[in-house]
Amino acid sequence: MWPFGKKKSAAAPTPEPKPADPIPTAADIKRQAVREAISALGLIKAEAEDTIVGFLADEMEIHPRQTLTEYRRGEQLSKDEKKAIGVRSNAFLSRQAFHDLTEAGLECPLKAHETVLLRATFTFQRYQTIQSTKAAGLVGDKVFKGMKYDVLNMHCAICGPMDGKTIPIDEATIFPFPGCTCDTANWGYRADVDFLARWND
Ligand SMILES: [Zn+2]
Repeated sequence: MWPFGKKKSAAAPTPEPKPADPIPTAADIKRQAVREAISALGLIKAEAEDTIVGFLADEMEIHPRQTLTEYRRGEQLSKDEKKAIGVRSNAFLSRQAFHDLTEAGLECPLKAHETVLLRATFTFQRYQTIQSTKAAGLVGDKVFKGMKYDVLNMHCAICGPMDGKTIPIDEATIFPFPGCTCDTANWGYRADVDFLARWND
């Protein structure tokens, strides 16, 4: 069903900065991740980029849902304004959050920010996993086989078939794949380590 050979070559040259240029900082990656999520989902206006970047934490100690519920608790739209966009009067929707929404975002006013933030968070987590694998000194060790995909949404024709595959760390891209239909592109990497390799001399 899924033309793997074709997609693989299409997915490989993802527009990810290559280390020839100045190495992007974690803050650069966060901003790129948010920009990608805003543009791919179309739920939030581009001008809300800074707001979402501010919500993108280094670690997911607080779930984005909680962070954004707080944001939606600010100065509220009136009951009539909420009614006009199909939001029940006891749901939180701040004026500021409302202004961030695009027309598509107005279809899911209570979920739009969360979806964008989750998508950006997963991208940033993939970056962090790759960074920490490099920092652990595994690369070049014979026990290290590469990065293994850990995919949650097996229904996606693009992400699903990647689950469990291991690729060289240099080919591990962090952004959602072209053609992926997942809202949040919830997949990650794990370092694929074969500890037995050390015993097989
Ligand atoms: Zn997908």
